[in-house]
Amino acid sequence: MGNSEDLVIVNALMRQALVAVEEVMGKNGLNAVLRMSSLGQYIDNLPPDDLNPSVKSSDYARLNEAIESFYGRGGRGMLRRIGKASFQYAVREQSALLGLAGVALKLLPRKQQMRFILNSMANALKKTNRQVHVEVEEADNTFVYVARTCSVCYGRQSDKPICHLYVGSIGEAVRWATGQPYQVQETHCIAKGDPYCRFEVIETDA
Ligand SMILES: [Zn+2]
Repeated sequence: MGNSEDLVIVNALMRQALVAVEEVMGKNGLNAVLRMSSLGQYIDNLPPDDLNPSVKSSDYARLNEAIESFYGRGGRGMLRRIGKASFQYAVREQSALLGLAGVALKLLPRKQQMRFILNSMANALKKTNRQVHVEVEEADNTFVYVARTCSVCYGRQSDKPICHLYVGSIGEAVRWATGQPYQVQETHCIAKGDPYCRFEVIETDA
């Protein structure tokens, strides 16, 4: 099934990404990539922070593509930073949606912290759209986040995984929940022809 249907996503998710793009690239950078991706309607006019499903996945994917081509070889790192900033925005402004309000994570063992935050991300996405298929798997000491629908690479093709924004968000989520740095690797990507985008969370020695 994969990314066959152009899913709609909620305003809050697009807003989160655009605020993060502006934080990382500045206002001129944001406006440039909005023009490049034919999303000029958002210039000085961000979508509201609500759960109306008014944005197409293909728009979200085009934004990602524009940022990648804007920066060339540096695009991957920029998109990771934007992913990180979008998770931080979600913690600041959308903690109810993420299910973080009033949760005391600090006292939990690390494995439970990771399970909690990854499931929170997956559930928030599913809550906003019943067509979204994402799940969290655990094997030994590795957590795996599997997205069978993905708005980052929707409709795109590549010989390498390209969901760098997702990698940045997942990495920041586990860092936020555990206080530890983790490396996140996208091992499979729908844009490459895989049936899903699959992200492995790997503990680093840092
Ligand atoms: Zn992907």
